[in-house]
Amino acid sequence: MQIPISFIDITEKVGKDINLVQGPGGNISYKDNGYMYIKASGTKMSDVKKKNIFVKTNYKKILSAISNEDLDPVKNSWEEDNGIRPSIETSMHAIMPHKFVLHVHCVNTLSWIVQKNYPNKLNSILKGENWSSVPYRKPGICLSKEIKKVIDQNKSDVILLSNHGIVAGADTPEKVYGLIKRISQKLYLGELGNNKINVTNFNNYLLSEVYKLPRFEYVHQIAFSRKHTLIATKGTLFPDQIVFLENGIVIINNVKEFKNLLKLRRNNLPVILIPNIGILVPNDFNEVNENILLGLSMIISRIPINSSIKYLKKREIDELLNWDLEKHRQKINN
Ligand SMILES: [Zn+2]
Repeated sequence: MQIPISFIDITEKVGKDINLVQGPGGNISYKDNGYMYIKASGTKMSDVKKKNIFVKTNYKKILSAISNEDLDPVKNSWEEDNGIRPSIETSMHAIMPHKFVLHVHCVNTLSWIVQKNYPNKLNSILKGENWSSVPYRKPGICLSKEIKKVIDQNKSDVILLSNHGIVAGADTPEKVYGLIKRISQKLYLGELGNNKINVTNFNNYLLSEVYKLPRFEYVHQIAFSRKHTLIATKGTLFPDQIVFLENGIVIINNVKEFKNLLKLRRNNLPVILIPNIGILVPNDFNEVNENILLGLSMIISRIPINSSIKYLKKREIDELLNWDLEKHRQKINN
């Protein structure tokens, strides 16, 4: 398949930008001659120059399956013999009328779209942009239907997906990247200050040899703010948090509580947050887990102190946990 070099370059640039993409999240596509080339499920945009990460799909077939209310509109839209399958967000890319479509889990954007009533707050910040927002829906066909409504109504180029991310479209890869970066910059208001951790404070916890320090020092910041500690531990903000931080984050105040946790949660150890000391992760925490935790802490640290948060509901979490396509994405990243 002939993929434009500028598209490959932009894909790599986005994939290496932790502000936009963490782990296998985010995806990009382009439409040409009746086909749509889209990132494969579970692959990383940053790997685009190392291996083929794109699947060729028949997007007109996908569009007609969507209008026929087909529950799995992507089925039979690609050649299945090469071992990779199109992203679980393929129908969203097909619905967007633009030639180039980019979807990312931008941390500046997420710090807004997890807040109650955020569209009203953004009216003045995003003035002059052709944007809309949609409520949270399970990625896939349910989300695509919401997007279709706002596209038909407003012909938006940028759509904010509540508790999930941002999708944008344009007629060149450079333009769609520029659009996402511009919105991302406008949505940045500030973040938590830089508290230095004291590693000796972790000694009693590290003795267990079950936990280790997280790879990125940045993630400790949320442990130094009561408000942000609660945001991190009270609920789930976005889908990849359930898929790749599936055991959650738990507040541990002292060694006694820690020992109890080891007894009770031996087989599903959470990330632990020790107030005013920092964060520890289970020893088997892998690269994707580290990246999702970094993304989560960047999002939380950008949330203003006086905001009220909208978490995913239990029903919304359950439908992600029981979804075989998410299990596929989780499996190839573990
Ligand atoms: Zn997404």
